[in-house]
Parts: sequence; structure tokens; C-alpha cells
Amino acid sequence: MVEAPTRTEPSPNPTAGSATALFLDRDGVLIEEVEYLARPERVRLISGGAAAVRRANDAGWKVVVVSNQSGVARGLFPESVLPEIHSVISEKLLAEAGAVIDGFYYCPHHPTEGVGAYRIGCDCRKPKPGMLLKASIELGIDPSKSWMIGDRLTDLQAGAVAGCRTILVQTGYGSGTRIFSPDADLSLVAVLPSVVEAVRFALLNSPPPAR
Ligand SMILES: [Mg+2]
Ligand SMILES: [Zn+2]
Repeated sequence: MVEAPTRTEPSPNPTAGSATALFLDRDGVLIEEVEYLARPERVRLISGGAAAVRRANDAGWKVVVVSNQSGVARGLFPESVLPEIHSVISEKLLAEAGAVIDGFYYCPHHPTEGVGAYRIGCDCRKPKPGMLLKASIELGIDPSKSWMIGDRLTDLQAGAVAGCRTILVQTGYGSGTRIFSPDADLSLVAVLPSVVEAVRFALLNSPPPAR
């Protein structure tokens, strides 16, 4: 029997955890795309999305929503509306399938269109990976075992930089991306109709092949 070598150097990222996560973009992936959604009563789950989240819950995965919300920076709605919208999403997921989101992360900033303190070049606005990295620390996630599902190029870029595999869905803005096939630079492994097929694919293709 071969013993694993004793680790003598600190891990390159001592804060990384071991959990697998499903990182989901919000608008156009988990809920129907509504430009600058500001009213909780307009929340509509993507068909089958609640059951898909439930399957990830049942697999023991963390399910984390990561969303750019520059409508806050642009002054279109107050930041306080976001927790209200997230509560409605959580209620609908629970009612429809007993599904649970482990964390909602959002970026309220914009580098050029923002007003006041929201006008900054932050680390959290996708394609930057800040939200995924913060969630990984706070929720004990290993990004290299995890997946980012999005409908825009910036979702895939953020997921790839964070170290996740990525899946593009064709709901929301997905059909307009003109990306149709896997792309190593984006860690993009599949282009699928919706979050339903994306979660099924992720569950079937985890854990990642040994490297
Ligand atoms: Mg989106
Ligand atoms: Zn930000």
C-alpha cells in the first residue's frame, strides 16, 4: 500500500473548501430574464428550475446564485429590493420542489454608469470571479469541483477564472451569445437548452476526471 506523501508546504489556497458547488446566474438562468428586474412580483422561475436545484441539493452540493445587478448602480432600483427578490425566489423554489439556495451573491456596482459609491471598478462584477471566490471561502467550496451555469459570456468567463467548469444555457440571453460548442478557454464543456439539462449534465459528469 502506498501512503500519500506528507504535505510539507501550505496549500496554495488554504481557505478553499472541499464542497462541490453549482454556481447559477440568476436572470435568464434560474428565473426568466426581465431587464433590470425591480419588482418581486415579476419573479418567474425557469420551467423545471426548482426541481433541478433540488437535485443538486440532494447530491449534497452547495447551490449559489451569483448575479450582476448594475440596476442598483444605475439608480434604477434601491439595493434593498434585492433581498426581497431573493426571498421570493427562495419561497418559490421551496414551494415548487423543496429546493434551497445556500447563498445569494450580487454585484451592485458599475465601473462607468454607476452613481455615487456604486461607481467603482470592483472585483465582484462578472466577468471578474469575485463573487464565486467569496462564496467559496464563506461556504467551504472547492471551485475545481464546481460548475458555473450562465446565459452570457461574462458568466462563463467568471466561472473559468474561478477555476470551475462552465455550462452555457440557451434561456435568457443564451441563444444570442453565438457560442454553440465547448471552448477550452472558457472551461465551457456543454451548451444546453436550460438549467434543467445543465444540472443533469453536471451531476452526471462529477467528479472531474483525475488530472
Ligand atoms: Mg443572466
Ligand atoms: Zn461589484
